[in-house]
This record gives sequence, structure tokens and C-alpha cells, in this order.
Amino acid sequence: MGPQIVWFKRDLRVDDHAALDGACRAGPTIGIYVFEPELLRLPDSDPCHVAFVRSCLAELRERLAARGGRLLIRIGDVVEVLGSLQRAVGASAIWSHEETGNLWTFARDRRVAAWAEASGVAWHEPWQNGVVRRLPTRDGWSRIWGKRMATTAVPAPEHIATPAGAADLDDGPIPTLAELGLAASRRAEPQAAGEGEAWKTLRSFLAERSIDYRAAMASPVEGWEGCSRLSPHLAYGTISMRRVHQTAAARAAELKEQRAAGAAFAPTWLPSLASFQSRLRWHCHFMQKLEDHPALEKDELNPVFRGLRDDGWDDELFAAFCEGRTGYPMVDACMRCLDATGWVNFRMRAMLVSFACHHLGLPWQPVGVELARRFVDFEPGIHYSQAQMQAGVTGINTVRIYSPAKQVRDQDPEGVFVRRWVPELEGIPTEHLAEPHLTPPLVQIASGCRIGRDYPAPLVDHATAYAAARERIASVRRTREARSEAERVLARHGSRKRTPRRRGPRT
Ligand SMILES: Cc1cc2nc3c(=O)[nH]c(=O)nc-3n(C[C@H](O)[C@H](O)[C@H](O)COP(=O)(O)OP(=O)(O)OC[C@H]3O[C@@H](n4cnc5c(N)ncnc54)[C@H](O)[C@@H]3O)c2cc1C
Repeated sequence: MGPQIVWFKRDLRVDDHAALDGACRAGPTIGIYVFEPELLRLPDSDPCHVAFVRSCLAELRERLAARGGRLLIRIGDVVEVLGSLQRAVGASAIWSHEETGNLWTFARDRRVAAWAEASGVAWHEPWQNGVVRRLPTRDGWSRIWGKRMATTAVPAPEHIATPAGAADLDDGPIPTLAELGLAASRRAEPQAAGEGEAWKTLRSFLAERSIDYRAAMASPVEGWEGCSRLSPHLAYGTISMRRVHQTAAARAAELKEQRAAGAAFAPTWLPSLASFQSRLRWHCHFMQKLEDHPALEKDELNPVFRGLRDDGWDDELFAAFCEGRTGYPMVDACMRCLDATGWVNFRMRAMLVSFACHHLGLPWQPVGVELARRFVDFEPGIHYSQAQMQAGVTGINTVRIYSPAKQVRDQDPEGVFVRRWVPELEGIPTEHLAEPHLTPPLVQIASGCRIGRDYPAPLVDHATAYAAARERIASVRRTREARSEAERVLARHGSRKRTPRRRGPRT
């Protein structure tokens, strides 16, 4: 067969890479990564995503070179870039993994498909996780996920033959953010990138850090080390979902064997690994929603909630939320932590959307876009599905309205996280950190932090906002139309796992 092209997208690895493996088996192969200026300028793109990708590419290039292969790097329109490479090397096929991206990448892939067909070039798109293309029904999806995860992973090719026609092609430098026309990334403490780092992260998690995962995941303090921190690696594909799943399953089996042989270890460990494994499935469960319904990036899955907060836009509230000056220490600490690092744990992400949409009454779309830019691990399918769910607009999930003060008391009782990211509150006694505006005036003076001067008073009253938000959602949910739409959404997108019905807890 003729020369093959591997178009790397969100799969920046050589191990367990079905597209690379398939191409190398079919003929001499050349890899390419394309920085797409239009994509980089979308509202939910951020220099921190590009910075992560840049580091991955440096390592990917080395790993391909170690096998005799090459990675070209280009800036431009993918159809033009692939077209010119295909003509230069006389490629008969292009390989890339299926991508569940945003509306822009969906449209771009359609253009690539049209070009490939018109040019007589085959475009092979193997799957790379448990997201199923053209899934007719959610019934049985979980079984397909399990079957895929049980298949054998493909090791990196030992040797990659390069097409003769590529000899004169320049590899192309990895462009700097400035060369891509982007500002420097604001995240001064981002997570390390690359395939080697992905494996290091997985191994350290399974070897030790996972011991108390189930409890640690709720806290922004313990979660920092106690969560796997694999999310950017899964989002940019520096490790495959199948490898993570299989390695975690092997670790759980090993621990069970050790226990059977009399070894003693924390009783939390095995349940923690089970929780972790279920989250791997969730990763694909949420992405499947976007795969099945690409418009969910912008429109509510459940149309009865459309426009629910369209009257709620307020520039000042939004700016205060983004800048971490809402007067709610946990909200402000999380926004500032995200600004510097690009990561907070699940519960805090959910609280941020809940606060912005329920307390401040902002529509979920701009809130989702703002957070997408701050999450180094931005994965559109998970992100927009979760944003809708936490904003209470799916009609099928329990509506959770988090109390940011309760989150300080429960998840940061010593105030370590809040004091680190909101240093104005440094001197406020721990017992007042959850609601610093209730600190007696003399204590405020003694602690060097006057509420309203050094740190804002709460933008909104929690109890009032909570009651109004519940009523706003409930008034829609109790309509007949809402109930019938909820059934439709559940049938198309809902998890088939039965969970006991309960009233929304005070979170
Ligand atoms: C509003 C909101 C937006 C989110 N946006 C993203 C996003 O853009 N990208 C992203 O990867 N995750 C997102 N999540 C899910 C979750 O918060 C992160 O996956 C997790 O915090 C990443 O840290 P970790 O890798 O240490 O996770 P771990 O707890 O160690 O979990 C392991 C992996 O399982 C998956 N996972 C964990 N929790 C979830 C979940 N609730 N839903 C789906 N998959 C999950 C992730 O791939 C994660 O890397 C979002 C959650 C919320 C509430």
C-alpha cells in the first residue's frame, strides 16, 4: 500500500495508538500535527491548552524519532495542510482517532471528510475510548464500553518507515505561543505534560496516592494529591483510556491477591480504586452525550430550560465571579487557584457552576466558556454536559445547589486552601473563614482584614439566592412539558444505572 499520514489530534502518544499502529502496518508513515488558528481563537480555547499541547508535541516528536519516524508541525487550515502533504508524499490514506470535539471541530472534520472523498484518499478513524459513533440507543452502551476496555492494547510500533516523498519536507518548529498570536499562558503552575508524565502520574496514583481517593476527591486540599490528576492526559491523549482502565484493574487485582495472602492495608484502598474505575466510565458517558448531540455545547439538552436565565446577565456579577471577588471565600479561592494552576477537583467545579448560575443567576453558557479556558484538561463532552447538569437545566438530574460556606467548613476546615488563594483573609480566625462578613468588627480590625474594604462582602445572600434558584428550577420542572421532555432526554442520554431517588441534599 502507498504512504500513510497520521494526523495527531487529541491523541499525543505513540503507545496504544490505533491510528499510528494501523498506518504503520499499511505502509511508510509520516505524522503531522496542525495548529489551527481558527480553533485557537474560539472563546473556549486558552493559551494554557496550547502550552500543554506544545510540551506534549516535543516529547511525541522524540518518541517518533526514536522509532525512525517523523512528526511534521504546521500552522494553518487542516484541509489545505493535509492536501499539500498528501500530494507531496503521494499518500493513499490518512489516519486519525475519532474525535468528540466541539461544534467547530465537528464542522472541520466534515470538511476533511469531503476533501478526502473528493481526492480519493481513504480516511481511517479508529475509536480511542468508549465513545461510540452513530450509537443508535443508550441501551447496552455500558456493555460496549466494557468490551472495548477489555480488548488488547497495541504497543508503540518498533520501527516506523518514512515515505520517500517526505525527504525534502521540513519538519517545522513547534511554534511559540507568540508565533501563534497568543498571549502567554496565565497559568504559572500548570501540570506537567507528555506521555512519560502521564505514565508517571498513573503509576504514582495506583502505587500510593489512591489509598484514600474516595474521601480525598471531595476536598480541594486532599484532592490535589489524592485525585489521579490524569485529566489533561486523558483529554490530550498522552495515555489511552484503555491503558488507564487496564492498569487500574490490574492494580486492584494485585491488591486483592495481597489481601488474600494476609497483607494488611487501608480498607479504603479497594473501594477507592473501584470509584476511580467508575469515573473512567463516566468520562466516556459524558462525552457520549456530546457525540450524540453536538449542539449541547450551546443549547440545553432539554429545551424547556432554554432561556431560563437569559434575563440574568450582569457584567459586574460575571466580572466579580471571574476575578474571584464574590465575597464567598471558597468560590474566590477556586477561581484564583484555577487562574494559576488550571485545576480544581470535581466538587469545587460543580460548586463554581452552581454558584454562578444559581446564586448569581448567570446563564450557564458564558460560565461554561470561562471555566473551559481555566481548565487545562478542558474536554468539551464532559465540560458542557457537566455545566448543564450543575446549572440544573437537564431536567433529569437531582438539582444540587452548593453552599460555598459549607464547602469551607466541610472541605477546608483549617482554611489551608482559602488562605493560600485569598491571602487577604490570612488573619481572619479559622472559625470565621467560611463567612468572613460575620466576623465581629473588632476581630476584623485585629486581623487586618476589614470586610467591604480589604475583602468584599458577599455579592448575594445565600439563603435568599438558594430559595429563589430552587423555585426558578422547580417552576419549570413541574410542568407537563418538562416531564415529557425529561423522559425523552433520559431515554437518549441518561445513564442506565438505577440510582435511588432522593431529594436534593443541602450541599
Ligand atoms: C462543571 C464541570 C466541568 C468539568 N469539566 C471537565 C473537563 O473539561 N475535563 C475533564 O476531564 N473533566 C471535567 N470535569 C470532571 C472532573 O471534575 C474532572 O475530570 C476531575 O476533577 C479531573 O481531575 P482528576 O483527573 O484528578 O480526576 P479523578 O477523580 O482522578 O478521575 C479520573 C478521571 O475520570 C474522569 N472523571 C472524573 N470525574 C468525572 C466526572 N464527574 N465526569 C466525567 N469524567 C470524570 C476524568 O477523565 C478524570 O481524569 C468537570 C466537572 C464539572 C463539575
